[in-house]
Amino acid sequence: MIEVKDLVKKYGDHVAVDHLTFTVEKGQIYGFLGPNGAGKSTTMNIMTGYIGATEGEVLIDGHDILKDAEAAKKCIGYLPEIPPVYPDMTVEEYLRFSAELKGIKKEDREAQIEKVMRMAQVEEVSRRLIKNLSKGYRQRVGLAHAIMGFPPIIILDEPTVGLDPKQIIEIRELIKKLSKDHTIILSSHILSEISEVCDYVMIIAHGKLIASDTTENLTKMMQGQNIYDFKAKGSASQVREALGMVSGIEKMDIKPSGEDGIVEVAVECKNGEDALEKRPDYREEIFYALAHAECPMMASAKYVSLEDIFLELTEEHKKIRPKKQKRRLMARRQNEKDARTDMPVDPEEITTEDEQAENNEEVKDHGSDL
Ligand code: ADP
Ligand code: MG
Repeated sequence: MIEVKDLVKKYGDHVAVDHLTFTVEKGQIYGFLGPNGAGKSTTMNIMTGYIGATEGEVLIDGHDILKDAEAAKKCIGYLPEIPPVYPDMTVEEYLRFSAELKGIKKEDREAQIEKVMRMAQVEEVSRRLIKNLSKGYRQRVGLAHAIMGFPPIIILDEPTVGLDPKQIIEIRELIKKLSKDHTIILSSHILSEISEVCDYVMIIAHGKLIASDTTENLTKMMQGQNIYDFKAKGSASQVREALGMVSGIEKMDIKPSGEDGIVEVAVECKNGEDALEKRPDYREEIFYALAHAECPMMASAKYVSLEDIFLELTEEHKKIRPKKQKRRLMARRQNEKDARTDMPVDPEEITTEDEQAENNEEVKDHGSDL
């Protein structure tokens, strides 16, 4: 339905869209998820022919958005970030203009206008001037324009921005309803927004597509992520029995830790009803169960949510491994020390405990290969 190939958009030296490639299949709801400034609006503006790309290609149902713009644009209804509504027109006048612009046959126009007004819920303000509407209503007028003519593809840039919670629910319902006959792409910087309505999620950061999967798979990916790794003092059977008292545990894996009398434990706990909700936290329960059985916990627990994955994937600076930061810190400390002793040292030669462990692992791996 839509093919985006190697799309690049530069503003001067700034790369807003960085080699984006993806395809969109018919009849699904796609979500562009990414923080502000990620390049969502720029991508949508290119896909809809509002702005040109620096490099790359967009095909809408086989039509190139630049070379075959008219045919391509006919397939798309677009609600841009700032809807281009005319402030001095009434809602009805604007939608009449929109119907004409979209080439809807004269005899069908009134029925079409009525239908989109009903769907976008702007009937009660139909005779008001657009400039006198609240942001929420203006957004809905933009939405009415986007769905006018019911094109096969509907692209909505942050469609719920400026709406109150009730309106948000209504728009979500409308999007779900439209998805029965239309392919929908919507953007948001809010995870729950996307997970609520989309079948497929594309996570965008710094103009790059960094993850793309079905909402179901992303949900599955984090289901079973309510995992706690720790060490506990005691035998495997003692620890197993102690943890048996914690009702939320679904799976446990207990093995020797390498330290005498201490076992390494991984337990997987139940998620909430809605997998995208925050994970229930079992750390306290686990702690007391172990304490009660006199098997003290020897390390802390952790769990990962999709929110964490999202933040980690989208925040570029977090990609700097803690190990690297540690290495830099160690090198700096060493340099400071050396400055005191006047002994120059190559920072590359300094290894942290982590790296030493990693090197040892490598040796072990090679050993098993042989
Ligand atoms: P998003 O919609 O994900 O918030 P945008 O696509 O609006 O992100 O912006 C992506 C990047 O491109 C941002 O860094 C933004 O500042 C920049 N940008 C967007 N439009 C322009 C423009 N017309 N001129 C210069 N830079 C722009
Ligand atoms: Mg935007």
